[in-house]
Amino acid sequence: MKKLFLSFYFIFLLFSFIFSSCSQKKPAITSQPALERLLEGNKRYVDNKSQHSDRSDERRKEIASKHTPYAVIVGCSDSRVSPEIIFDEGLGNLFVVRVAGNVIGQIELESINYSALYLNSKIILVLGHDNCGAVEAALQNNKINIEKIAKLIEPAIQKVKKNKTNNVLEQAIKANALNMKNLLENSPKIKQLIKDKKIEVHAAYYNLKTGRVELINEKTSSD
Ligand SMILES: [Zn+2]
Repeated sequence: MKKLFLSFYFIFLLFSFIFSSCSQKKPAITSQPALERLLEGNKRYVDNKSQHSDRSDERRKEIASKHTPYAVIVGCSDSRVSPEIIFDEGLGNLFVVRVAGNVIGQIELESINYSALYLNSKIILVLGHDNCGAVEAALQNNKINIEKIAKLIEPAIQKVKKNKTNNVLEQAIKANALNMKNLLENSPKIKQLIKDKKIEVHAAYYNLKTGRVELINEKTSSD
């Protein structure tokens, strides 16, 4: 009888262990490297598997007094490129600076610096997108009403103008994102943070049809 009891007790312990292992919460997503987290969130969005996390009333209250967004997104104002949606992120995770053509002037730079210096952000992602109206207007020299923005895009236009390719708009959009990345990397405060390995800067390109975000490097942008 005692043996039978011990056998049941052992089985009970075994099931308890299996159950507790299965019900353990997954490690917090915040421990992931910043770039990996952004790209994984984008993959969930592309695959139609968005988790829509950190959008509860608990989350809202949790971050009411303090937020530490892990990423700064420098994106275009275009209504089809909403960072929280395309990276499947929630409240308090992204510090977003949006302006037509994802350009960086003094005001944008000060906003970016604020999050990088005081909110402990780990990454800055400059996000261009295909079919960008601001870059297209600058490319066509149609600068009416966007004079200041076009002026900031102009170096990218000059860079790709000599390319006799069909996709000159795409090249200009990528060159523009890269220019803004380079601008950040050479701005004193961000430069120091990069040197101290506290932040990284990337440029990326968003595809309006697929929803996919791909990183831009110097090589692919000049192909
Ligand atoms: Zn745009």
